[in-house]
Amino acid sequence: MNCTILTVGTELLMGQIVNTNAAFLSKEINDLGINVLYHLTVGDNPNRLKKMLKIALEVSDLVVTTGGLGPTQDDLTKETIAKSLGKELVLHEPTLEKIKGFFSKLNKEMSPNNKKQALIPEGSIVLDNDNGTAPGFIAEVDGKMVVSLPGPPREMKSLFFDSVKPYLQSKSEFKIKSKILKFVGIGESSLETVLEDLITDQTNPTIATYAGGGEVSLRITAKGKTDEEIDALINPMIKEVESRLEKHIYSYCDESLEKIVANMLIDNNLKISLAESCTGGLLASKFTSISGISKTLDRAIVTYSNNAKIQELGIDENIIKDYGAVSEETAEAMAQGVRLVAKTDIGVSITGIAGPTGGTSEKPVGLVYVGIATAKNIIVKKLNLTGDRNKIRSYAAISALNLIRQVIIKDSL
Ligand code: ATP
Repeated sequence: MNCTILTVGTELLMGQIVNTNAAFLSKEINDLGINVLYHLTVGDNPNRLKKMLKIALEVSDLVVTTGGLGPTQDDLTKETIAKSLGKELVLHEPTLEKIKGFFSKLNKEMSPNNKKQALIPEGSIVLDNDNGTAPGFIAEVDGKMVVSLPGPPREMKSLFFDSVKPYLQSKSEFKIKSKILKFVGIGESSLETVLEDLITDQTNPTIATYAGGGEVSLRITAKGKTDEEIDALINPMIKEVESRLEKHIYSYCDESLEKIVANMLIDNNLKISLAESCTGGLLASKFTSISGISKTLDRAIVTYSNNAKIQELGIDENIIKDYGAVSEETAEAMAQGVRLVAKTDIGVSITGIAGPTGGTSEKPVGLVYVGIATAKNIIVKKLNLTGDRNKIRSYAAISALNLIRQVIIKDSL
């Protein structure tokens, strides 16, 4: 089955709102094994909507629209769909009662316009909207299906999950399942190079890489009639990817690196403390986004100046004088310093030059040291990062998370 998503709203064309409905529906409908082939967007104009609807019905079996179901004059989706499908609009009494009830609860007068919302194309399935007054509907004509949903994302999503998804599942012969592998310490282009042959030859399963925020994901998607059939397609692909890139894989589901690392720390009953310089609390912010982090995170200190490093972490000032604030020696002393001050199992430090100023030929912008101190030893990783200030700071925090992960895996505590 093929699908076109047709989003309605002049605001979308004006760039005033981002088309999150199309992205949401695409993902969900593809996951049902239905191929989304086109996205169309049209303003609140009945003639243009009619044209786009005609095209959508020509090129696909299923058309899902959002927007334009409201009571205002420019909300014309329903009328246009009904006309295009050769159906009359008829009053849906239960919806009218619901709308009346809604207004009497608010102690407000129902405007004649609101009555319009209780009209639906004859013979269609009404999708009851618990979060708003405009119901959605499903109309079937000549083997084609049109699903029409309200524009507000909250209303659209709840109608989709409650009514549309079960309806489409009952119509679709295939299921689609994806597995997401997450990588760290490797860029998207290197990942693609290592997997080039698999990417070129892909059919079922398909594989695709995604990058963002310093992390890279690989989505392996297979289509089949049963879960067993799908697993038999996905699992050998995972094995193949593992055989090439195992050390970079940190998750087999869509979890963040901070969540994985936090869980590793909590599961191993480890306490951690942080001393950050160039990241200014970014690592702490990632950790504290995880609920339950107080079980492992003792403290996070931003020691930006040399003075702060000396006063808060008890670093010997000669270390900074002799080697500089951005150096292996200072990173080592910061990690050990915070570990001793906080009396934790692990102390982590980050010190670097985020730029764009402050670099020298000896210590260029992007030079960052991450230190990890444990009872057994202290390790420092030197990074040469590229990008703007925020990218460098973000990669530094991600690298620190990855280093903590590696230290726990190697059990060098
Ligand atoms: P209403 O009953 O609120 O009028 P409606 O079905 O007529 O609902 P629209 O008037 O088209 O929907 O849109 C209402 C609001 O929903 C928009 O102002 C916007 O905030 C949001 N919205 C509409 N379409 C989209 C979309 N494609 N992506 C994200 N948000 C959207």
